[in-house]
Amino acid sequence: MTVGVHSKQMGTYCIETYGCQMNLADSELISGILEKKGWVRAQSVQDADLIVINTCTVRQRAAERAIGHVRSLGSLKAARPGLRIALVGCLAQHLGPDLRDRLPEVDLFAGPDAYRSLPALLERSGVDGKCALRRDRSETYDGLPVIRRKGANAWVSIMRGCDRACTYCAVPLARGRERSLPVESIRRDIEKVISEGFTAVTLLGQSVTSYRDGDRDFAWLIEHLGELGGLGKLRFLSPHPADFTPRLLEALRHCPVATRHIHLPLQSGSNRILDMMRRGYTREQYIELIEHARVTLPGVGITTDLMVGFPGETQEDFRQTIGVMETVRFDSAFMFAYSARERTYAARFLDDDVPAHEKRRRLEEVIALQESHSLQRFSACVGSTLEVLVEGPAKGSGGLLFGRGDDFKNTVFQPLPGRKLSVGQIVSVEITAATSHTLKGQQRQCP
Ligand code: SF4
Repeated sequence: MTVGVHSKQMGTYCIETYGCQMNLADSELISGILEKKGWVRAQSVQDADLIVINTCTVRQRAAERAIGHVRSLGSLKAARPGLRIALVGCLAQHLGPDLRDRLPEVDLFAGPDAYRSLPALLERSGVDGKCALRRDRSETYDGLPVIRRKGANAWVSIMRGCDRACTYCAVPLARGRERSLPVESIRRDIEKVISEGFTAVTLLGQSVTSYRDGDRDFAWLIEHLGELGGLGKLRFLSPHPADFTPRLLEALRHCPVATRHIHLPLQSGSNRILDMMRRGYTREQYIELIEHARVTLPGVGITTDLMVGFPGETQEDFRQTIGVMETVRFDSAFMFAYSARERTYAARFLDDDVPAHEKRRRLEEVIALQESHSLQRFSACVGSTLEVLVEGPAKGSGGLLFGRGDDFKNTVFQPLPGRKLSVGQIVSVEITAATSHTLKGQQRQCP
């Protein structure tokens, strides 16, 4: 994805983003920082004086894709010696010094805490192979300009870093310790996005439920933001099961704009593996939390992340994960086979002993099971009428629109004839059919 706009001419840039919503939000931040200093968005990669590659280190595949992409830019750089390439984000922070020899195409490696000084780093001559990888606990990213891509939803980062240290995860190594933005800054940012015409806001953080500003925690923030006029929908990513308190469920219940969707990463259904992952909860606590959420927030959509083949995962551990899936019946899930991330505790001290073919087999089994659960969950919506936030035209659509209901299910629908709907509008849609990934329906006339 490429983002940007303009001012006092420094050169043209484009940004390519890998990974999660935090990285998408960070790319909007980098655009704001560069453009404030006079960089102008390029029409294409071929026209850019600067290519910023915003990377992810969570999964091996995303890291490999980013590295492969940098290498593929070598010929462009050879043809245009003035072109500069900046590798930024989690992969740069995590492995920057090691990548320096492997990626001579890169002029600047910068971690997330260096974004504020990117323009200054780029202005200095002899940037060649430079690393700006110092982690800075005092950097809260407060007050930085953001240029958001147009749409129904605005990403708003409210905290960064993670203090949890799950044994497989490179995020704490890349993003450092937790830091939260002050409530007042978040409120100002949300008022700004409302004035810019966004209907929905998604609050982002590596472990968003750890948010804290003095004695004001995440539940307090939800209560507070629920009182803001002009906000249509409020979402958040990603909570951690161990911080998801009954008070937060109550805050969500009373918040008029909070959507009925919780993405709650489970990772494993085996207590032994959860303990080895240092996740901080048991399968029983997780299931109890989901039951509580479904009673408190009727109709809530529950999605999750699942990892198979963690070091030491036996058939019995794997069956325990299947057991939790059968009990909870998630609406959908992101499912992965474990891959060791360099320098994590698991990579250093645990034997990656589940053979690749067995990881693949387990992954195929959870995917097949989840497909059947998703189909059940999606099919249960047929016949109901949902409030859907319009996000844009459906892919290859012939007049169909795409949006999501409060429980975050993808919905493709036929608008009423002769009515022009805009991105960000909320409309009633009668659901007439379902697949395991998409609801289908038609807009209903308002009574
Ligand atoms: S909670 Fe665990 S998995 Fe999530 S970012 Fe923190 S360390 Fe990584």
